[in-house]
Amino acid sequence: MAAKYGLGIDYGGTKILGAVVDLATGQVIGSAKKRTSFADGSEELLERIISVGVGALKSASLKAKDLEGIGLGAAGQVDAKRGVLLGTPNLSQAVVDLPVAKRLADEFKVPATLANDVHVAALGEARFGAGVGAESFLCVFVGTGIGGAIVLRGKLMLGRDGTAGEIGHATVVAGGRLCGCGGAGHLEAYAARTAISRRLLGEMKRGRNSILSDLEPDLVNKDALRSDVTFRSGTLATAIEEKDALVIEAVREAGWYLGIGLASAVNIVNPDRIILGGGAIEALPLMVEVARETVRAEALPVPAKSADIVTAGLGDHSGVVGAAIIGAESGRK
Ligand SMILES: [Zn+2]
Repeated sequence: MAAKYGLGIDYGGTKILGAVVDLATGQVIGSAKKRTSFADGSEELLERIISVGVGALKSASLKAKDLEGIGLGAAGQVDAKRGVLLGTPNLSQAVVDLPVAKRLADEFKVPATLANDVHVAALGEARFGAGVGAESFLCVFVGTGIGGAIVLRGKLMLGRDGTAGEIGHATVVAGGRLCGCGGAGHLEAYAARTAISRRLLGEMKRGRNSILSDLEPDLVNKDALRSDVTFRSGTLATAIEEKDALVIEAVREAGWYLGIGLASAVNIVNPDRIILGGGAIEALPLMVEVARETVRAEALPVPAKSADIVTAGLGDHSGVVGAAIIGAESGRK
């Protein structure tokens, strides 16, 4: 039997990654990526997404007609049923009501579907990654924002409107910091890379020293409240390696808040596993370590003991593999 392929595209906070995936093995056959631009409007974003798709096909030496389908996972508000990207508050203010699934299907002449980026990543992890063998797990991805998904008995929980699992908007400090969604005290406002960056820039403005002024001299002079002013996870990792006290303190603090949010989720869901992924998690093991200690200390003892906290098995590829799977499934409907 000939191999079956899907094209998965992951639209995240720093980049758009596309990959052609062998659906039987989860293997990435070819890939391409582009940086995300905060200035993009709907048409510019669509162009970038299409060019990443074309690049991934080229790198796999395949044509669109070889695909079972295309899936797009997007870090934003999505109407998965209609395939419409409603808005991307953390990525670009100018993308509104983009019927991206239809536009991709028209462009590549194969079925296409849209879903929440972490829902898609959870499917990738369930099928080929750290979720294999777990009956129920939470997937939590930390990057520019924080996304989540709940898989129970092997099934992704969507909820009535498809928003289930949004742990980034769980309240960790009642009446606390303003969140990107307009709410107050949500986990994302304390533990996402944007939140860590704001905290660091604020402390540096108030006179604390950090190696970040040498690593990113341009960034530290910018307005800390602009959502696109963030330190890359790799830069934070370098600062930790250099034993920078301020960065260590800020990352530990973010890990603690992450652990507080996860502890509540563990109490409510009682999962076998928590799978942590995303750029900040991959680059900052200190954050994972502190979150793990905090869950042990703060959640109820029985579910805390059962929940293994692990990192994503597919690394950077969870999203594209999951997206390829949903794309192919939409093609079979
Ligand atoms: Zn929020």
